[in-house]
Amino acid sequence: MTESYDVIIIGTGAGGGTLARHLAPSGKKVLLLERGGWLPREPENWSTEAVFVDNRYVSADTWYDGNGKPFQPGVHYFVGGATKLYGAALYRLRKEDFGELRHHDGISPAWPISYDELEPYYTLAEDRYQVHGARGEDPTEPPASAPYPHPAVSHEPRIQQLSDDLEAAGHHPFHAPCGIMLDESNPPYSTCVRCSQCDGFPCLVHAKSDAEVLGVRPALEHPNVTLLTNARVTRLETNDAGTAVTEAVVERDGTEERYGADVVVVACGAANTAKLLLQSASNTHAKGLANGSDQVGRNYMYHDSTAVLALSREENETAYQKTLGLNDFYFGADDFEFPLGNVQMVGKSQAAMFRGERPRETRLAPDWTLERMAKHAIDFWLSTEDLPRPENRIMLDGDRNIRLTYTETNAEAKRRLYAKVKSLLGKLDMNPDHLIHRFAYMKNDIPIAGCAHQAGTCRFGSDPATSVLDVNCKAHELDNLYVVDTSVFPSIGAVNPALTAMANSLRVGDHLLERLK
Ligand SMILES: Cc1cc2nc3c(=O)[nH]c(=O)nc-3n(C[C@H](O)[C@H](O)[C@H](O)COP(=O)(O)OP(=O)(O)OC[C@H]3O[C@@H](n4cnc5c(N)ncnc54)[C@H](O)[C@@H]3O)c2cc1C
Ligand code: SF4
Repeated sequence: MTESYDVIIIGTGAGGGTLARHLAPSGKKVLLLERGGWLPREPENWSTEAVFVDNRYVSADTWYDGNGKPFQPGVHYFVGGATKLYGAALYRLRKEDFGELRHHDGISPAWPISYDELEPYYTLAEDRYQVHGARGEDPTEPPASAPYPHPAVSHEPRIQQLSDDLEAAGHHPFHAPCGIMLDESNPPYSTCVRCSQCDGFPCLVHAKSDAEVLGVRPALEHPNVTLLTNARVTRLETNDAGTAVTEAVVERDGTEERYGADVVVVACGAANTAKLLLQSASNTHAKGLANGSDQVGRNYMYHDSTAVLALSREENETAYQKTLGLNDFYFGADDFEFPLGNVQMVGKSQAAMFRGERPRETRLAPDWTLERMAKHAIDFWLSTEDLPRPENRIMLDGDRNIRLTYTETNAEAKRRLYAKVKSLLGKLDMNPDHLIHRFAYMKNDIPIAGCAHQAGTCRFGSDPATSVLDVNCKAHELDNLYVVDTSVFPSIGAVNPALTAMANSLRVGDHLLERLK
């Protein structure tokens, strides 16, 4: 007989883990199905070689590009999902991102909810994920109903100097919102030890605000919540009319198991959520579950990001580098009327990351060894908004493998953002000639394998012809199927996506608590 629950949540990352914690105190019977296991706590968590060279925590999946060429996607299957490895830069989208925005390559569409509707949930998400930040420094910052729950993480000396130099050059650097449990007022009791192995690494001491530590673990303190690990959902079955999901079919330890629930929530990440719905095609849902509109899998986005490093004249001894952001080009520049994007810091370069991949640009400076380069590096992460295009999509091939067809959008804006940062270097006490693409950490120019910021594929909206989900993120075509991960995004903005997924998950969670009363 099928075991039955009030709610099944599939996937335990930013979307699923956050929802689990929100529903847990209700006493409702909640089942979490997670295809991965617990990420082992081991010395390799903080080993640059293990994480960046050996890809120890990257899934063994093979996906295929639009031409059928195989690649290994940068995805992470663990309790906590991608947040186990993320940089925990927990940004809100800008208020304007919720409306229609004109870009160089076209329109970034409006969301079906306004910023003001999501605002209370951003505040709650910042609280749950212990975000450290400072309001009032970033001119593009959207209005907030509460201060950050924790003070901003201080800049280390070289980043403070960068901040001062940017201000002197007329810019508005700000303290970036960081999800690390650092208590600078009481170091002996701080969970976070402020190390250099954060962005892209798991946190050995569980001080990163990830969805395992602050989502799943608190949820499991409630006896009504059950977690099954290594439980990959392969299919969702419906009733004969196709109006409700009746069972999740699970592959666990080589055997098939089935679980039922009144409500089923999918949160597998944008690519895998689309995959699950597509492979759940049936007589009543011939093109895939909830896919009468043919929108499932479409509008895949992942940010036009570039990881670059500049060479500081002095050595950069910063350990935790992600404390600074710059949004002065978010909506455009004096010489460009369209949005360019966000500039932030990325985890500090280490020579071991470059092993075997000597950046071409260093040929310009042959006296710079990789070690010396890493010591002087100041590392930036430039993100331009990627526009949703129906032809950028997840499909399944004959063997049910993911096929990701993607053509870049907004390349001109991305090029200009890079040029803007490069033009600033001389004023920032950095070598003016070199803004070097990083050939580590998600690779240069983030080819499609670097799908860390994947979003879209099941967007929510009010029109069933152009969206998969309604305003509550319930499938238009089914009574009890919801999605709460980044796949719901109608547009992605140019800031990191996790906090928005968490906030939206809390919003949908409130709707579910009402529904389940
Ligand atoms: C290296 C790295 C750095 C990043 N840095 C940042 C950052 O600084 N700030 C930020 O905002 N974002 C960052 N991101 C992105 C952020 O982590 C994601 O946007 C976020 O985790 C997405 O949440 P999600 O719920 O959509 O998916 P995920 O968090 O990926 O969760 C999906 C979960 O579903 C599980 N799953 C998948 N398929 C199945 C199935 N069939 N059955 C059962 N379970 C399944 C997966 O194992 C996973 O646990 C980063 C990501 C990476 C990889
Ligand atoms: S900086 Fe803090 S949160 Fe990040 S890995 Fe180090 S100890 Fe963990």
